Amino acid sequence: MQPLLIYNTLTRQKELFKPINEGMVGMYVCGPTVYGDAHLGHARPAITFDILFRYLRHLGYKVRYVRNITDVGHLEHDADEGEDKIAKKARLERLEPMEVVQYYLNRYHHAMEALNVLPPSIEPHASGHIIEQIEYVKKILESGYAYISDGSVYFDVNSYNKDHRYGILSNRSLDETRTNTRELDGQSEKRNPADFALWKKAQPEHIMRWPSPWSDGFPGWHLECSTMGQKYLGETFDIHGGGMDLMFPHHECEIAQSVAHNGHPTVKYWMHNNMITIEGQKMGKSLGNFITLDEFFNGKHPKLTQAYSPMTIRFFILQAHYRGTVDFSNEALQGAEKALNRMLETYERIVKLAAEATDTDAPALLEAETQALEQRCYDALNDDLNTPMVIATLFDAARIVNQINDGTLKASAADLRALKQLFDTFLFDILGITRPDATAGVDVTPYRKAVDLLLEVRSQAKAAKDWATSDLIRDRLAEMGFSVKDTKNGAEWTLN
Ligand code: ZN
Repeated sequence: MQPLLIYNTLTRQKELFKPINEGMVGMYVCGPTVYGDAHLGHARPAITFDILFRYLRHLGYKVRYVRNITDVGHLEHDADEGEDKIAKKARLERLEPMEVVQYYLNRYHHAMEALNVLPPSIEPHASGHIIEQIEYVKKILESGYAYISDGSVYFDVNSYNKDHRYGILSNRSLDETRTNTRELDGQSEKRNPADFALWKKAQPEHIMRWPSPWSDGFPGWHLECSTMGQKYLGETFDIHGGGMDLMFPHHECEIAQSVAHNGHPTVKYWMHNNMITIEGQKMGKSLGNFITLDEFFNGKHPKLTQAYSPMTIRFFILQAHYRGTVDFSNEALQGAEKALNRMLETYERIVKLAAEATDTDAPALLEAETQALEQRCYDALNDDLNTPMVIATLFDAARIVNQINDGTLKASAADLRALKQLFDTFLFDILGITRPDATAGVDVTPYRKAVDLLLEVRSQAKAAKDWATSDLIRDRLAEMGFSVKDTKNGAEWTLN
């Protein structure tokens, strides 16, 4: 077994990965809140922990990977209206809240599939685990680390902190956490501003609500992860991951809840991916740089000069170490696109060379070089998933392939097979890149551009009052499954 080192946020050092149960790994990652389209901020944790999932499986571990769906209108209130975001969306779009959840969940899955992110083993919904969450709260109340206040239940951070340490993960003192706690409501019901809700009594306008011993209400956000993690992975499990922005208060509260519930911590390794900025700025709706994954894929956002294929996005994210920041710009993405294309072209070259080689029984001439490259890839992954180093090593391998191709380096069929295997293992299986012509994760960018071009021709035909051509294009596209809609901003299309 390869010795895998991973950085544990809890101990603030790299540790040798050793699963609690031999051969079996339990891994929990905080999933999306489904009231809007997936954006770049969703892509990074999904891809980071996809690499870990793929690599652990490659090493021979059986992995149970749980990634939750936050679909309960928890404490993320719209400050002005006191309404949760899913319910607000449901009201505005005249939908049942669960229709909103399903709609965005389908779109999230679609985007993840395009990015070739493997589906987790279990994807539990918070709304499907209300009974378990209520039971969890009851046990924390019994332990004495929670109190009831006007139909809501709050975690008592002060009394917990007397026996344990609140702030252990983010390395903050209770005083620091207090000043950093942003609270939108319920302040007066709490004994301490740092206390957080385990159960919240629903206001009359709150649609997503369930009965409980304390009130008709809904569980606190942090609770779902403690409850569902324990339900599917046990009282102790190996890895808990998520974005750095979740470290406090979300993961800190999860630790406190689990310790209050079980008397001991649940998670052995805490892992956090760093954030993504866009042209040096934090992503945010108010800054006009909030770009959804679909917009990246179709290029339709004022900040984008072109469309970027899902594989370009994936490759770009993997060019940085997951604990480092990533800054998106058109230039950087175009650089990633070029680099990825170069690597894929090299791969096609080696496939061709290997297929054409006739000296099938000849001994390898480059065995030592190829093995050294393979070991460098493993060493990089074993060093806390150093994907940029894997990519750099694959570029070194690409240089060897190109020397073989232009005749400056001699290689046998065995060498070509070994080099091809290197890309198959590290670029495709572990980094999860797909070939543009592969059946899975097809790069649809050229097809999209071709349809856009047809619609451009159609709009010129319309401008010239050439209705026959305009109708012909629309009808033939419809036969192929594209529905074209004319809007005041021009024609739009969707694939049925
Ligand atoms: Zn979570």
